[in-house]
Amino acid sequence: MKEKEILALNAFDPDSASSMDTALGTAVQRRLRSFGNASVLFYQEPIRMARAEGVYMFDVDGRRYLDLYNNVPSVGHSHPRVVEAVSRQVGLLNTHTRYLNDVVDTYAERLLATFPHEIDHLVPTCTGSEANDLALRIARTCTGGTGFIATETAYHGVTSALVDLSPSLGLPLAKDSPVRLVPPPRPAGDETGAVFARHVAAAFEDMKRAGIRPAGLIVDTIFSSDGVLADPSEFLKPVVEAVHAAGALFIADEVQPGFGRCGQMWGFARHSIVPDLVTMGKPMGNGFPVAALAVRSQLLGAVPEEVELFSTFGGNPVACAAALAVLAVVEEEGLVANAAKVGSYLRHGLLTLAERHPLIGDVRGEGLLLGVELIDEARGPAAGNARKVTEAMRERGILLSATGPAGNVLKIRPPLVFQHEHADLFLLALDEVLASS
Ligand code: PMP
Repeated sequence: MKEKEILALNAFDPDSASSMDTALGTAVQRRLRSFGNASVLFYQEPIRMARAEGVYMFDVDGRRYLDLYNNVPSVGHSHPRVVEAVSRQVGLLNTHTRYLNDVVDTYAERLLATFPHEIDHLVPTCTGSEANDLALRIARTCTGGTGFIATETAYHGVTSALVDLSPSLGLPLAKDSPVRLVPPPRPAGDETGAVFARHVAAAFEDMKRAGIRPAGLIVDTIFSSDGVLADPSEFLKPVVEAVHAAGALFIADEVQPGFGRCGQMWGFARHSIVPDLVTMGKPMGNGFPVAALAVRSQLLGAVPEEVELFSTFGGNPVACAAALAVLAVVEEEGLVANAAKVGSYLRHGLLTLAERHPLIGDVRGEGLLLGVELIDEARGPAAGNARKVTEAMRERGILLSATGPAGNVLKIRPPLVFQHEHADLFLLALDEVLASS
C-alpha cells in the first residue's frame, strides 16, 4: 500500500468538505483554499487543535486528547525547559554556524558523546530529509558509486534524491534507476538477519550486473513504515557485513527511533552495530526544526574541501538551544529508561488484549514505538478495521494512526514522558473499541 493510501486510511476526505455546514467546515474549507487537496488532514472529522502539554493535546473547545501518535514532542508537548531555552536564545542571538557560539559547540559535543567513538563528526541540518540527502552525497563521494538500496515500504524523505528511496510514496522507479528495493526483514527467528542480508547482497549483485557501482544501504533501524520490526536484536549485524563486502556504506536513519524512543538512545544500538553514517531529526528539538548527520570523520574527510556542506539555518543557536534542552531533559528525567519501562508495560498490555481479540494478529516493536497488526478471519491484513479503530479511539479522545505495507498496523509512538496511568487509559479504550469492532 502506498504512503498516500496509508495516509488516506487516517485521513479526512476533502470531497466531504462542501457538505460541512459548521465552524469546522469553514476551517476545513479555508485550509483547502490555501493548501489544496494534496494536503492531508487526519480523521473524517478533522481536529482544530489549540494547544498541548505533556502527553495531552487540546482542541479549540477544550477537549483533551491523549497523544499516542506524535513522536516529535518526545520530551512532552510544550516542555517548559525547551520553551525557556528557545525563548531566551531567540532574544540573544540567532544566526548561522559561521561564527563561533558556545551553545552550538556545546550541543555538538554533547550529542557526539552519545555515539560510539567511531562516529565523531556532525553536520547540522534543518530536516531529516536534508540529513538523508547529505548522507547519500557523502556515500557517493566515498564509494565512487551511485547504487543505493532501501526497503520496499521505506520512507526516507522528500527531496528528489530520496523519492526513489521512499517507495512508500508509491512513485515507480525509472527503468535505469540506480536504486534497488528489497523486502523488509520478516520475522524468521535467528534467520531474520541472514535472509535480509541475502536480499541486500543479491540487490548489490543485480546493480553490478547493470554496471552500477554500490554506494549504500539506507534503513530506518526500527523499520517503522515497514510495519515496525525490532526482533530479533542484532539481526542487522550480517546485513552490515553484506553492505561492506559490496564496497558500500551503511546509513542508519534514526529519524524515528533516535533519542531514546526504543529504550536505547539509538535504534542501531539494539543491533550491536556501528553505522557509517547516522541521520536524525524529528524529536531532536521537540518540535523546533533541527536535524543532523553524524558520521565517521574519515568519511567526511573524503569530501573535497571545495564542497561546502553548509545550510543557512542548519545548527543555528536557537535550534541548538532547543536540542540542548531536549538532551538535558532526556537525561535528567530518565526518559530512555522510561521508554523501555512503560513501553514494556504497554506491550505486555497489548499482548493480553491479543489473547481475547482475534483482530490482533501480532504486537511488535520496542520501547515506545509499537505496532499492533490487525488481521481478518483469514489472517489477512485488516486495513479497514485499522481505520475504524483509529476513528473510534479519536471519539474516545485518543490519537493514533495506521501504517505498514497493507496499512493494517496500528502505530503507537507517544511522547517519551508517557506513564503507566496513560498506558492504562489507552488499553482500556482499545479493549472497548476492539470489543465493538
Ligand atoms: N526518515 C524517516 C524514517 C522519517 O520517518 C522521516 C519523516 N517522517 C524522514 C526521514 C524525513 O524527515 P523530515 O520530514 O524531517 O524531512
